Amino acid sequence: MNYVSTRNRGVSLTASQAISQGLARDGGLLTPETLPRLTPEMLEDLRGKPYAQRAVAVMQLFLEDFSQEELTAFTQAGYACPAKFDDPKVAPLHPLDGNTACLELWHGPTSAFKDMALQILPHLLSVSLVKTQEDKTVCILVATSGDTGKAALEGFKDVDRTKILVFYPKDGVSAVQALQMQTQQGDNVGVCAVHGNFDDAQTGVKTLFSDEKLRQDLAGRGYFLSSANSINWGRILPQLVYYISAYCDLLNAGQIQMGEKVNYCVPTGNFGNILACWYAGQMGLPVGKLICASNSNNVLTDFLATGTYDRNRPFHTTMSPSMDILVSSNLERLLFALSGQDDQAVAGYMKQLNETGKYTVSEAIQARLREDFYGGFCDEATTSQTIAQVWKDYGYLIDPHTAVAYHVMEDYRKATGDDRTTVFVSTASPFKFCDSVLHSLGVDQVEEGLGALDQLEKVSGRPAPVPLASLRDKAVRFTESVDKGQMMDVVLEMLR
Ligand SMILES: *Cc1c(COP(=O)(O)O)cnc(C)c1O
Repeated sequence: MNYVSTRNRGVSLTASQAISQGLARDGGLLTPETLPRLTPEMLEDLRGKPYAQRAVAVMQLFLEDFSQEELTAFTQAGYACPAKFDDPKVAPLHPLDGNTACLELWHGPTSAFKDMALQILPHLLSVSLVKTQEDKTVCILVATSGDTGKAALEGFKDVDRTKILVFYPKDGVSAVQALQMQTQQGDNVGVCAVHGNFDDAQTGVKTLFSDEKLRQDLAGRGYFLSSANSINWGRILPQLVYYISAYCDLLNAGQIQMGEKVNYCVPTGNFGNILACWYAGQMGLPVGKLICASNSNNVLTDFLATGTYDRNRPFHTTMSPSMDILVSSNLERLLFALSGQDDQAVAGYMKQLNETGKYTVSEAIQARLREDFYGGFCDEATTSQTIAQVWKDYGYLIDPHTAVAYHVMEDYRKATGDDRTTVFVSTASPFKFCDSVLHSLGVDQVEEGLGALDQLEKVSGRPAPVPLASLRDKAVRFTESVDKGQMMDVVLEMLR
């Protein structure tokens, strides 16, 4: 199977080339040209396997230049329990009622769903470099608003032929998130605060990526720079697995019959997570409706309703910050597929987006979108109410991102009467967002930093996940903070 650019089908790469390159040279996203079939026999076979082996079986269909032994080693390391994940099922389903279950994707080392892919991508990338005969070491540069940076640090920690350097805004992450990064372990990692907000850190990193002199300088030292964001196919692929795995678990629990369709509701930002579910459905997983849940940054809700994507709108800072996004990069892959792989059409939409901030897709694409997706959003007040309501009704504690999904799922059910079995996706542990969760539960005096963790443990009667609880006694390793203009010095110092 080959990988093509969404903006030029003439580009054709192997899996390891696509993963080492990340982004196509024309700016398009590298995407499988055909999708493998997932037959009922294969599902039947996967039912009996543990998560890591389900992951090998699914990924193998897409990664022809990787051996089963390689993939087995990656998933055994990345999804090890209890070394990395605190649940032997890795991505367990929590049933709420007869036709509703929550897919918990936060049992990994950083308590958020980015771990599901970032525990695998570094291994895929490291081995892809060998397969493509790249002799330089890759240095992953990340500007983070919180979740991604920590998950990338944990994933790349001590992986061969890789280094990772994370910049976070000094004023833009929570106390827990800062501490998570400052205490990061590993010999190939670096963490540095940047004075300013997320935009400052992000602009700084973009400037480093486009600096030709820096590129040459680093090449001379045996390094090249790359990013770990969700445009890389190696981040999307591991995410297909848990949708298929959830279906197997529903079968095993006797909640559905083989072939019965299941709806999935996904809290969405960059469109990577929900796209993975759509691919699984295209492969043959019996997916009913895909419910796309947004927060107040509801650009996708409007797009699914009107066919016009328009980023010209106010940006809202919400209590579900990982979904505070105005340009959902992975939508490009969906448009490529729904247009019948019309690379010229996709290139045109992206050009318009770049120049005017908006585009309108064809009638044909709009019809396909309506068939497969339902879009909805949840504002801040409703997110809080939902956290309180689910806690009261089910004794189940959810974080703000998950609450957005739950609310939009309920809206969808009311609007359509569809009572099919529905899986809603939980992307972060509630303990990662203690402040918002405590406020939602009616606690007025929320303590600073890790104090809030203790408070939420008391209020909920549940223990915090070990990776967060153990922050209490971890040593701080990284205290450096710099101005945006000094970021290059930090890179050069680390890659001496
Ligand atoms: C990244 C993230 C999301 C959004 O996922 P996308 O793949 O960008 O759509 C949702 N919730 C949490 C907690 C995240 O970290």
